[in-house]
Amino acid sequence: MKSKNSDLAKFWNQNLQMNYGTPAIALHKGSGSVVWDVEGKRYLDMLGGIATTVVGHANPVVVSAVSRQIRELSHVSNYYMHEPELKLAEKLTNFTKSPHARVFFCNSGAEANEAALKLSRLTGRGQIVATEGGFHGRTVGALSMTGQSGKRLPFLPLLKKVEFAPYGDIDSMKRLVSRRTAMVIVEPIQGENGVVVPPAGYLKAVRELCDQYGALLCIDAVQTGMGRTGQWFGYEYAGITPDIITLAKGLGGGLPLGAMIAVTEKAPSFKAGDHGSTFGGNPVSCAAGLAAISVIEKKNLMVRVAKVGKSLKSDLEKVPGVLSVRGEGLLIGIVLDSDIAPQVVSLGRENGILVNATGPRVIRIAPALTITDTQLREFLKKFALTMKSINEGQNA
Ligand SMILES: *Cc1c(COP(=O)(O)O)cnc(C)c1O
Repeated sequence: MKSKNSDLAKFWNQNLQMNYGTPAIALHKGSGSVVWDVEGKRYLDMLGGIATTVVGHANPVVVSAVSRQIRELSHVSNYYMHEPELKLAEKLTNFTKSPHARVFFCNSGAEANEAALKLSRLTGRGQIVATEGGFHGRTVGALSMTGQSGKRLPFLPLLKKVEFAPYGDIDSMKRLVSRRTAMVIVEPIQGENGVVVPPAGYLKAVRELCDQYGALLCIDAVQTGMGRTGQWFGYEYAGITPDIITLAKGLGGGLPLGAMIAVTEKAPSFKAGDHGSTFGGNPVSCAAGLAAISVIEKKNLMVRVAKVGKSLKSDLEKVPGVLSVRGEGLLIGIVLDSDIAPQVVSLGRENGILVNATGPRVIRIAPALTITDTQLREFLKKFALTMKSINEGQNA
């Protein structure tokens, strides 16, 4: 007999922490940009595990790479090398175009940012400058750099000497950065904050500010990375080179994997014993990451992402009830003209589309880069229908 979503929710409530609330459905399987719940209902997955399943669910290239790898070795301690890790590190260092780039592998975005934070300590400076609304993870160090008070306040005290400038406001940042600043950390686009795009010239100005005071620039590309914005990391359009890049989400093609890349000569280096992670750079995750990159490269997905992102944005702008649409490539924030985002999520789910509300008025979508034209049309139709039902319901 099939499981029911409502029965599973009861189990959830009895056995799990409530930090995610109680999800409405339990997913059972997926293929590309389609997922099915335990009751067999089909959904178009417009969130892709929050920007994670970059080449779709159960991508055959990933499945075969992972299957091959787990038959050979599922785990290797850090006392030994393995080829998937070496090959993936070589890919990533090449993507940075810097001959100095060196990778540290971990399992998640928070861990990648923790590694960046520790690396910045090796400069001998202690202050960190981050941005209001920015998100860098939930561990204490990463949370200390996260500029969202709701996530921070229950867990005070956090690290001292972290200061926040409004995102996109270079003059405010200038008042905080000095010779005491070890690192400035910014997202190319603030993902969790609702896909907030900074003004043109911002990243370049931040780079110049860091250069002026000898501070490291860390680009948190955890959400914008791995081709999502039409570039490997999401900052390249600005013509800058960061000192540190952090990655996770899409990096493992759906498996847990994070990385901290020290890019320039200015970034310090860890010495033997300075840092580590038991599972970081796990061979199965690295094999999945390599497979995902090979799909992105072979199918020229970054070019496609940039193109479909543009047309999707302009189509979404025409939907009644949509105020504006922001983002780059397939990281898109849909700003609504009233506080109905949570209703759009729940009615959308009933209508067969999975989207996410980052706030009362913003819907985020971050589908697989492999999503097809037909699926994008299906999404537009169902999204417009969802908006229409909610708006008509409110006017009735
Ligand atoms: C999701 C996210 C993180 C945290 O990643 P986890 O894997 O959940 O620890 C950090 N930075 C950014 C920009 C993110 O979007």
